[in-house]
Amino acid sequence: MFANLSDRLTASFKQLRGKGRLSEADIDATVSEIRRALLDADVALPVVRAFAASVRERAKSAEVSQALNPAQQVIKIVNAELVEILGGEARDLHFAKHPPTVIMLAGLQGAGKTTLAAKLGRWLREQGHTPMLVAADLQRPNAVTQLQVVGEQAGVPVWAPEPGNGVGDPVAVARSGVQQARDKQYSVVIVDTAGRLGIDAEMMQQAADIRDAVDPDETLFVLDAMIGQDAVTTANAFAEGVGFSGVVLTKLDGDARGGAALSVRGVTGKPVLFASTGEKLSDFERFHADRMASRILDMGDILTLIEQAEKAFDAQQAEEMAAKIAGDGDFTLQDFLVQLNQLKKMGSMKKMLGMLPGMGQMREQLENFDEREVDRVEAIVNSMTPAERTNPRILNGSRRQRIARGSGTTVTEVNALMERFDQAKTMMRQMARGAGRGVPGMGML
Ligand code: GDP
Repeated sequence: MFANLSDRLTASFKQLRGKGRLSEADIDATVSEIRRALLDADVALPVVRAFAASVRERAKSAEVSQALNPAQQVIKIVNAELVEILGGEARDLHFAKHPPTVIMLAGLQGAGKTTLAAKLGRWLREQGHTPMLVAADLQRPNAVTQLQVVGEQAGVPVWAPEPGNGVGDPVAVARSGVQQARDKQYSVVIVDTAGRLGIDAEMMQQAADIRDAVDPDETLFVLDAMIGQDAVTTANAFAEGVGFSGVVLTKLDGDARGGAALSVRGVTGKPVLFASTGEKLSDFERFHADRMASRILDMGDILTLIEQAEKAFDAQQAEEMAAKIAGDGDFTLQDFLVQLNQLKKMGSMKKMLGMLPGMGQMREQLENFDEREVDRVEAIVNSMTPAERTNPRILNGSRRQRIARGSGTTVTEVNALMERFDQAKTMMRQMARGAGRGVPGMGML
């Protein structure tokens, strides 16, 4: 559903590749790009505005972490903001103190209410509740039969008006359904109601009458995530006409732009409780803002990496290191060892480096990267005396031979490391002047 939005956001992060620090201009450019991407995904304007303002403020504030490069910093902020507009922590259904808990469904025709009634019933049954469905949608031909069919598939009984009773009175059906649930001691009763193709006063009145008759513990507004900008108008109309306590998003499996999903919480202030992701009864889940956000960013691995980098990063050590590198270049093999250990804290090196965005030219090197190499490098440095580590210039032939023996490597390997160390030192000095932010020591490998 969010493929296009994901691509656009990823593209905006890519522009930050290779930047050493976030300038105001970078932030402004990235935020405008994010703003356009959200608008094109049909996210409601007030939500987009709040989102952009918040990202800009956080990016400019001091909360940015030393452990992350600019692209990672922005990804982290955007992710946190996405979680926020999607509603943060998921809340549970509110159950009545004295059963049955009454859940009423409201929404436009075709939103997926009838399907949802069965999905929710099935889910509740699996949670150990004893649900019952009530067919109070007497508007749409076949709605009652449809509920009976899906109810049976879900293994949940359905209360329906007697056939052949003419048009019938949905309020009376809803009321008798709840009474039936009470008498038969069902723990939850889900009332399906009628929708129209568009918002209309009569439908709204009927839903409000049903609400008054059954006094629901939860009224769930069922919203088709594919309807784009109309979602906001529809949500507002239902909020005013019937009122609701939570939202269910349906058809999240579709390929529409998905802005509804991102707007509804911000526009209505009501939490999204469930997500429906297909036509099968099992295509249904609790709604988790964090999962949805990482689905939108499509960067699960990078978010994990960002977390790890922050944990492994020792700010003070890094600052000392940066000062050394930027200064007169007295960055030693001893410092290198400290950095290696910090890198190793982050787990599998190859995997970790592979997850980093913006590694461009390094990617090829990575393909040939042998993780055991880190151990060999460590062994070589460990076999050196402290004097050799601080002043590698004293490493003559016999010292090199001794080190190779001590570390179980060869003189060629020792020589190669020293050569790389010299190159890396130069490179790091350049980076420290220009684009030096990031996990320390990354340039060494
Ligand atoms: P109602 O008019 O609100 O009761 O809507 P229905 O439950 O009859 O659903 C309308 C159509 O949407 C049906 O064809 C459902 O199979 C389909 N539908 C419902 N939920 C989903 C969903 O999450 N994903 C997809 N792809 N289709 C859905």
